[in-house]
Amino acid sequence: MRKNIVAGNWKMHKNQKETIALLEEIIAKKPQTSTEIVVAPTFVNLAKAVEITNGTGITVAAQNMHQAEGGAFTGEIAAGMLTDIGIKNVILGHSERRAYFHETDALLANKVDTALKHEMRTIFCFGEELKNRQNNTHFNIVEFQLRDALFHLKKEDWQYIVLAYEPVWAIGTGETASPEQAQEMHQFIRELIAKVYGNAVAENVSILYGGSVKSDNAKEIFSKPDVDGGLIGGAALKADDFLAIVNGF
Ligand code: PGA
Repeated sequence: MRKNIVAGNWKMHKNQKETIALLEEIIAKKPQTSTEIVVAPTFVNLAKAVEITNGTGITVAAQNMHQAEGGAFTGEIAAGMLTDIGIKNVILGHSERRAYFHETDALLANKVDTALKHEMRTIFCFGEELKNRQNNTHFNIVEFQLRDALFHLKKEDWQYIVLAYEPVWAIGTGETASPEQAQEMHQFIRELIAKVYGNAVAENVSILYGGSVKSDNAKEIFSKPDVDGGLIGGAALKADDFLAIVNGF
């Protein structure tokens, strides 16, 4: 059965000293839980994070990677470089990558393929913008994003996929989708996957919600049957806030 996952996307925050301090606090205060805890520090702090979390059950993820195996791509990081330092998880398709770095679903399809080649698990982010919700095209947009980036995958590839539905209008804005809006979309996504890949794949894939999840709204959002956890930005930067969200299950 699918896992509950709470993942912290640290974005471009925390230098090495701060990374160590936050991880040590999370480790010290971490509750006994079956929920998987994922942290995604910046590239330069990943090796340190792997070292510190070793044996704690906490998963470390990268926030991005390049689709090529290596080569003349100044400033980029290859999948093999990540696995080499013990990283087996990567966040792909975050709305900030899409908006500021022009990542498209076609490009993301390649990145997911590269991750799979390296047996890395992808936390795949997608979600509609405010205008899409206002003109009632949010279900279509989400369907196209999944189709274009993921529906070329084989059934067995889905064991390496975690979905993170993040309505762009809710990211970093303090505006959260209501638990009902989240459930409605998550159910739509699960039914769509069931149509394309069958019930077993759909029932086993974890679908996280992201967008202004905080300790005071996590419990209600996570109580919905098709919400299997959260991708947390701002509230992942303080151990107490983050762990209060983990405790939302
Ligand atoms: P937020 O970010 O929790 O700060 O809204 C979520 C995300 O970007 O993954």
